[in-house]
Amino acid sequence: MSLSPPVEGTPPVEVRLRDLRANDVPVSIVARVVTAERREIVRKSDGGRRPVLSGLLSDGTASVRFTWWDPPSDPIERGEILRAVNVQVREYQGRLEVSFNWKSRVAPAGDADLPVVRPEDIPLRPLAEIRDGEDGFRIVARVVRVAPKTVSVGEDRRLLHEGVVADASGALAFTAWSDFGLKTGEAIDVSGGYARAFRGRPQLVLDERSAVRRVPGDGLPSAESAARGAVRSIADVEASRGGELLEFQGVIVGLLPPSGLVNRCPECRRAVRQGLCRVHGTVQPEPDIRARLVVDDGTGTLTVQAGRPETERLWGRTLEQCLATMRANPDPTVLEEELFETLFGRRVRVRGRGSADDFGVTVYPDFLEFEPADPRARARDVLASLEGGAP
Ligand SMILES: [Zn+2]
Repeated sequence: MSLSPPVEGTPPVEVRLRDLRANDVPVSIVARVVTAERREIVRKSDGGRRPVLSGLLSDGTASVRFTWWDPPSDPIERGEILRAVNVQVREYQGRLEVSFNWKSRVAPAGDADLPVVRPEDIPLRPLAEIRDGEDGFRIVARVVRVAPKTVSVGEDRRLLHEGVVADASGALAFTAWSDFGLKTGEAIDVSGGYARAFRGRPQLVLDERSAVRRVPGDGLPSAESAARGAVRSIADVEASRGGELLEFQGVIVGLLPPSGLVNRCPECRRAVRQGLCRVHGTVQPEPDIRARLVVDDGTGTLTVQAGRPETERLWGRTLEQCLATMRANPDPTVLEEELFETLFGRRVRVRGRGSADDFGVTVYPDFLEFEPADPRARARDVLASLEGGAP
């Protein structure tokens, strides 16, 4: 990193991010880079380009957005600790920001330079209030579920732990990049995590800088009651714009494309057409099956993204059987029609995670089963949902 030399002489008083106030007096801070993105701003007057780095800083007491005009050309990486002297603090759209300009001096710093923060000094936050990009918060929550998962990061294979935590206000999915030995049912006090968006909802991320303590958990819901929350109407799920531990029932009234046999990019798993991934170009596609179900309960409609295991189970056909059918008759609409006939009008019970966008709520199920088949109930359900009445 090519930065100014370490600051000589009497350093100005450093301010914790939690204590920042919008003010004309420049301050000094020590903070870790949580996110950083480089851009160029085009000057309107002469079309000249000015580089700017912006993102989020945290010192463990709070996080604050930063703007760094004319930053060094070497990349500034997530996790780097910076000491910035003579920075301006201002308020923008109701949130504080710091800006580094030509008068600021920025130098690398170390862990020991960060303020010592006791977990009890960090503000405790209800899960329902945590937003994307935040850090510098503490939560007390119940582990509703947790499972190990192996992922590829560049060339490496890394073990992480994924799950859901809940408190009385709501639930949040999490990914832990370090093994904290979490177990379902434990109550934990967590500080040093941060939140980032995943499939349209905030997700808690824990890494080697996070601290996890076991606590008694008085006042928290049990793992069982959080996992099996009340069955909700689809209108209610739409009104809350999704959620972590949704449960609802409804009737399959449609199938959105692409459903059935699809081809995926082996790199990024996006659906590919004619062997062309929009990110990776020409690839050797891998076959997969999926179903994008339109589910209606008479109060509203949402989309359920059934992956391969759920689709195979509901359909009663495996990927291998579908590929054999395609070899015998290479017309994909035959398979799609068969899938539609198997699913249309069937009542399903769904549990999973859902998020909303301009097209409505999409649910990624952990559990997806047909309700017991009763032909009369099935006919009644279809009629009710088509008429928009109660199921
Ligand atoms: Zn790809």
